[in-house]
Amino acid sequence: MGYIIDCGKVNPASGCPHVVRGETEEELMKNAEEHAKEHGIVEVTPEVIEQIKSNVEKEPV
Ligand SMILES: [Zn+2]
Repeated sequence: MGYIIDCGKVNPASGCPHVVRGETEEELMKNAEEHAKEHGIVEVTPEVIEQIKSNVEKEPV
């Protein structure tokens, strides 16, 4: 079981349907940072990380 982040919840204004997945929180954050680049976020600030982390969910079994 892993972790997921619903991109549309992190940034509702984006209307993005992408769901970031990771087996571990570390992998999840790495994938989330990669995906953030697709939104033009080149610098992942502590604020962005906090925003992402507050939306981390356990993947439904
Ligand atoms: Zn997105």
